[in-house]
Amino acid sequence: MNYTCQEHFSALAVFLLSIYFNMRLRFLIAISLSSLTAIDLPARQSSTKWIMLNITPAQAQADCHLLQLPDGSNILIDAGEAWDAPNVAVALLRKLGVHRISMVIISHFHKDHYGQLVPIIRAGIAIDKVILNVPDKRSADLEIPWGCDLNDVQSVLAELRARKIPYTTPKAGDRIYEYKTRDRVIVSLDIICAYDGVHSPIGLTDVNDTSIVLRLSHGPTRVLFSGDLNQKLGAYLVASGVDLRADILKAPHHGAETTVPDAFYTKVHASAVLVPASKALWLSARCMRTRNYFYNAGVPAYVSGLRGNVTVTMTSKGYKIEAEH
Ligand SMILES: [Zn+2]
Repeated sequence: MNYTCQEHFSALAVFLLSIYFNMRLRFLIAISLSSLTAIDLPARQSSTKWIMLNITPAQAQADCHLLQLPDGSNILIDAGEAWDAPNVAVALLRKLGVHRISMVIISHFHKDHYGQLVPIIRAGIAIDKVILNVPDKRSADLEIPWGCDLNDVQSVLAELRARKIPYTTPKAGDRIYEYKTRDRVIVSLDIICAYDGVHSPIGLTDVNDTSIVLRLSHGPTRVLFSGDLNQKLGAYLVASGVDLRADILKAPHHGAETTVPDAFYTKVHASAVLVPASKALWLSARCMRTRNYFYNAGVPAYVSGLRGNVTVTMTSKGYKIEAEH
């Protein structure tokens, strides 16, 4: 090879190498942009998704509801654990690619509603704040030794403080979330009630009746999240005239007996009910009244233990419900 050929060869090699690195660079930029879009910058959308996670694959019951909002944020209503199905909520949130939750709302302090809060934090899922309602000791002590464990509640609060995750207790009438979508629909979360089990209009109640009850609205669609609301406070809310109407009801207390009276269901007047319960519980005598009420009213019931994860998608036009199976 003479000098000129060598020169041409080197120039060609440099040219080919520059094409290769240019393409590789573009490829890497494209990869990093797509992962940014998918993970760090969730695309703004005009729908709200509510996924009732199936965390009740065995016999026991528990609540965990993921809201994916049009501003790209995630909100969790309850982070429960069924005693016979540990760590299911953490596993499902990971599977769904949830890395950050802007707000966790713990409806009340029973482990089937808060048992996965600390495991979620320890799994590295960032939580910006927590909305909760600690029951008065007199209400909690009614349930020794089987129900609310105030020592465990204090350890959860200590963990939140240690990790500098702020927590607050709301009151009736508070709007804890509001967002206007690009198609000018208001999405909001409004607190209906949050009593402490002693300072309530009906005096001393059980811990289920300390449930934070809240309404999610997406334009024309309303969803009522009712925690584990029970007979006593449920009857009071019906009589009080508070606006309970909703298109979809998250069944209180897993649909099991001691929950709200039928008059509550009538007042809500929902077109569908989502029930976070195992198949065994839903088909047992404990759920017979609720099961019959909705069957007779012609209202479809989506039960997590039977249908898997149930997803409700809300837009400005209305909503649709899809079940895993
Ligand atoms: Zn419960």
